[in-house]
Amino acid sequence: MIADNIKEILSEIPKDVHLIAASKTRKSAEILEAINAGIEMIGENYVQEAANKIPEIGNKAKWHLIGHLQKNKVKKAVEIFNMIQTVDSIGIAAEIAKRSAENGRIMEVLIEINSGREEQKFGVFPENAEDLIQAVSKMNNIKVMGLMTMGPLMGNHYDFIPYFRTTKELFDKFKKLDIINVEMKYLSMGMTNSYKTAVKEGANMIRVGTKIFGNRE
Ligand SMILES: *Cc1c(COP(=O)(O)O)cnc(C)c1O
Repeated sequence: MIADNIKEILSEIPKDVHLIAASKTRKSAEILEAINAGIEMIGENYVQEAANKIPEIGNKAKWHLIGHLQKNKVKKAVEIFNMIQTVDSIGIAAEIAKRSAENGRIMEVLIEINSGREEQKFGVFPENAEDLIQAVSKMNNIKVMGLMTMGPLMGNHYDFIPYFRTTKELFDKFKKLDIINVEMKYLSMGMTNSYKTAVKEGANMIRVGTKIFGNRE
């Protein structure tokens, strides 16, 4: 079933769009099934949950943190993830840079945009994104590789268009600015109920959980 679902999604999206399997609450066996069906990137929301699964799966896939990151989890996060998609403050970026330096690595990150401008949600407001990216660009051991957004929690397909458009416009703008140490390569948007819209609106990375693995319990 997992393999069929992945096949279906891959048939619907262009070849250059990266499909991340969003695997919170899923067992390692299910994740391995997804990898065997062609998944190359796994998205986890919680550092500890990922840390429990990674030893069983290892480097058969790239590991992306797609959930909010707390400062006290950064040390562990930079040890286990290939990319952190949820950078939304100078403080968290500085901590990632510091811990990555200790690990002798450069962490690739995406800047999370709060495209719905909802106070209770994570992500930087669109109007503050440029200042944040400029600040991160001056840090060592961390490299901005693009943008990520969630959009509103509710809604389907077309409801997401304004949020995805706002984020795509920022992506194009920052790409043009050509900031040193910043590469606008990945635009991560779209989940089960919105990935087709997201791809139409310019996403080249989508994060799909339910449509791959079934409903979460
Ligand atoms: C859970 C999750 C997804 C996938 O959601 P589905 O609706 O299950 O496809 C994508 N992105 C993030 C950040 C998530 O937490």
